Amino acid sequence: MIYADIIIDISSDKLDRSFQYRVPERLEQEIKVGMVVSIPFGNASQPRKGYVTGLSREPKIDAEKIKDICEISSGEETTESRLIALAAWMRENYGSTMIQALKTVLPIQEKIKAKEKKYICLDIPEEEGHKLLADLEKTRFRARTRLLRELLEKKRLDFTFASKELGATSAVVKKMQEQGVIRIEYDEIMRNSLNTGDIVAEDSLPLTDEQETAVKQILEEWEKPFPRPMLIEGVTGSGKTQVYMKLIESTIAQGKQTIVLIPEIALTYQTVRRFYARFGDKVSVINSRQSQGERYDQFKRAKRGEVQVMIGPRSALFTPFGNLGLIIIDEEHEPSYKSESSPRYHARETSIKRASLENARVVMGSATPSVEAYSQAMKGVYGLVRLNARYGSRPMPQVSIVDLREELKAGNRSVLSRELREKMKLRFEKKEQVILFLNRRGYAGFVSCRSCGHVMKCPHCDVSLSEHNNERLLCHYCGYEIRKPQACPVCGSPYIGGFKAGTQQIEKVVRETFVGVRTLRMDFDTTRTKGSYEKILASFARHEADVLIGTQMIVKGHDFPDVTLVGVVAADLSLNAEDYRCAERTFQLLCQAAGRGGRGEKPGEAVIQTYHPDHYSIQAAAVQNYEAFYEEEMSYRTLMDYPPAAHMMAVLGSSPSDEILVQAMHYLKLYIQRIYKENDLHVIGPAFAAVGKVKDIYRQVIYLKHEDYQVLVRIKDQLEKYIEINSGFRNIYIQFDFS
Ligand code: ADP
Ligand code: ZN
Ligand code: ZN
Repeated sequence: MIYADIIIDISSDKLDRSFQYRVPERLEQEIKVGMVVSIPFGNASQPRKGYVTGLSREPKIDAEKIKDICEISSGEETTESRLIALAAWMRENYGSTMIQALKTVLPIQEKIKAKEKKYICLDIPEEEGHKLLADLEKTRFRARTRLLRELLEKKRLDFTFASKELGATSAVVKKMQEQGVIRIEYDEIMRNSLNTGDIVAEDSLPLTDEQETAVKQILEEWEKPFPRPMLIEGVTGSGKTQVYMKLIESTIAQGKQTIVLIPEIALTYQTVRRFYARFGDKVSVINSRQSQGERYDQFKRAKRGEVQVMIGPRSALFTPFGNLGLIIIDEEHEPSYKSESSPRYHARETSIKRASLENARVVMGSATPSVEAYSQAMKGVYGLVRLNARYGSRPMPQVSIVDLREELKAGNRSVLSRELREKMKLRFEKKEQVILFLNRRGYAGFVSCRSCGHVMKCPHCDVSLSEHNNERLLCHYCGYEIRKPQACPVCGSPYIGGFKAGTQQIEKVVRETFVGVRTLRMDFDTTRTKGSYEKILASFARHEADVLIGTQMIVKGHDFPDVTLVGVVAADLSLNAEDYRCAERTFQLLCQAAGRGGRGEKPGEAVIQTYHPDHYSIQAAAVQNYEAFYEEEMSYRTLMDYPPAAHMMAVLGSSPSDEILVQAMHYLKLYIQRIYKENDLHVIGPAFAAVGKVKDIYRQVIYLKHEDYQVLVRIKDQLEKYIEINSGFRNIYIQFDFS
């Protein structure tokens, strides 16, 4: 006997209210998650429609009381039913409850709807506006005059401001609207930063030969019966966006919609403006600063067919377009495409799945593709398209590598090497700008030797150990632990320790070294308040400072034409993160950082300071050679069985009691070893997670490695059942994380 979980109302917050029905034998073969079915409900005389969200063999209540499904409503497949099928796939492949998966793919309407923000915009050419103002000033229409004067200056006014401060009553606004002088806009686009008022519409630009070829290659793939996802490997500035836009045009021409995923808010400002300039009102945006309700409204507009292109971060992937044609994933390698809450889905894989369910295409782009995506392209699972030239033949930045060990030998203990200092001085003399970059991402306190560069690593996992309580060194994959040595085990030097300098200290050093030089700092501390991020970037763009010092947030987004030098203070910070992806992240960050300089007419230069000048990720980044990096990285991953050479599943446990947690994780490990006896499975840990304790909750993790993803999925399924029926796990929260 098969039972189906059915939800009736998916447009509300009642997603967790599912009802169980029996599947009549005649429908058993046919029924699938996501289908629309008709069911008897309550006392209603007519059957109602519902969505199947799950199938099982066990009744949850007295089987006698369960009613039968009437019919499958065939041909009634909706956008929602496809999204529910996607949720089921996510639940299965990433591990979560069905409710968590449904809440991820279906936006929930908020009870209190967020107010739409209203704006008044000038709807006539400026020149005409000034003439009209001159005329109005001679009349007694005070409010209209004030409104127009303000509009000519600001282009776009907050409606509330206009009515309260300028006394523009609704009658005044209405009149001017009727005359075609102004128009009302509802801010659904970039509530916080995008001022669409001054965006000049832009026609499609003629493509370069290389871009043309890329578009052609992709369109040809789309002609095939089973088009593959396409990966564009294009150096920064090669014009990937132009290629995307051409593909969107062709998708719109077919009457289909496009989702454009971009990594994070930092990018939206410039990117969205460009898309808006090209596609105007067809474009809409969701961002993570919007409330649930605002996101819901955006999705509603998409569903009604009011927009053709939705731009947004990871979650925009679930935009309920009725006729989805294309999903674009820009900066495909970005870590923010991976969700950090259950289901811990990856936007790349999930996009590909959604596209396959809806007969849509996927195109990804990056200057430094993820090792995962590139290996798929090498296997031919994805199609690969290359853009090798920068638009307008701007030269790639000149990169030099500075060996910090040599600095110490020469008696220089400053965070600025002699070479970087010299080069900075030169820029300041020429009134050019400098960016100093401290890549703290993933930094968790590695310990290294300042004399020879040796890093303390786990002998089993080949990742850096991190320092705890100033005395112990720990591996966060397997739990390996040693006392922190007093001297370097390789060269005996006593200069061994962590890297302590932060952005603040660097700023201090810069100010002391270059008297009178103006600095700006961008890091977690200075960007806490709303809008501060944009403010700092804008101020730097206006040349109100000579140096911008910041963490990885500064390597993206804005173009600064006057920046001709980028200094990477310590490449080792990301290189020695305790994560098998650290070399990949380092390569990506260094390429991006170096690419920051020389965006304008003047050529750019970069200086990378490091204790590991010979490391392949640094060497390859210096010459922007992705293939060289990839080769080395893949051999490391293969040697160590890290993804994509093998698959990895983390079983994350958390609990307020460390005692119960340690015991439960121990039992989980024993259980895994009992249900899977082949020796091709590596079980590592349990160990305390990278951040072992957050807000008094302890966290432990077991890693499983296997070549076959499905083996891990099956183990996950069995663990889920084991945890559910076992009372020992009641105070423990278990999550799964695949990579
Ligand atoms: P990418 O995303 O690959 O780093 P962009 O798409 O941002 O590159 O392009 C870099 C710059 O070159 C942008 O300023 C863009 O407007 C310009 N550009 C690229 N292709 C063209 C083209 N075919 N015609 C005019 N300008 C172009
Ligand atoms: Zn040493
Ligand atoms: Zn280890």
